[in-house]
Amino acid sequence: MVLSKERAQLVATLHDMGSAQLSPGASGNASVKTADGGILISATGQVAANARPADLVYINPDGHIDERQLKPSSEWRMHWQIYQDHPDAGGVVHCHSRYATVLACQRREIPAFHYMVAVAGGDSIPCAPYALYGSQELSLLVSHALQNRKACLLANHGQIAYGSDPVKALALAKEVEALAANYFFSLQNGGPTLLSEQEMNDVLAQYVNYGRQK
Ligand SMILES: [Zn+2]
Repeated sequence: MVLSKERAQLVATLHDMGSAQLSPGASGNASVKTADGGILISATGQVAANARPADLVYINPDGHIDERQLKPSSEWRMHWQIYQDHPDAGGVVHCHSRYATVLACQRREIPAFHYMVAVAGGDSIPCAPYALYGSQELSLLVSHALQNRKACLLANHGQIAYGSDPVKALALAKEVEALAANYFFSLQNGGPTLLSEQEMNDVLAQYVNYGRQK
């Protein structure tokens, strides 16, 4: 097996997700788009921290899975659908991180309570409606919730984030979890004052250049 750049990057992302304790047990999963238009994804039942390059499952550009491999994450359809509908996606991370999941169980979106909500691409981080995990229905609901967004919550489930590669997707998932925690605690103390539409538009306009050096 050739250790491709994508394979190495996905294993590093899974290890990082594991050490960040972003998802309990084997609940978190991640994927990367491969150069030929297929994807590599973590195997079902895989504890992220223990992932090895040979454990990753390849799904070819037609969505076919060679059964001589391990079985892919039961949530592979969600990843697959995001790559189909969002050509800018090069990596996807899904997890049941604590505070994002608490809000998702209340079927709450994260509103513009903090300017960093813009990190997901808009003035809120939406919550996709509930559907059975692993189902085609959930894949379509999640991909739809990601219109103009790079992250969303999943009702009664968790969160998902994508980026140009899995490292960026994980960084966004961590940011979403931090925002979810701040929003959750803010709700316990009378609730936050939300930013106005104009204030968030100013953030979004400036955010295009955020973190970029000359
Ligand atoms: Zn899940």
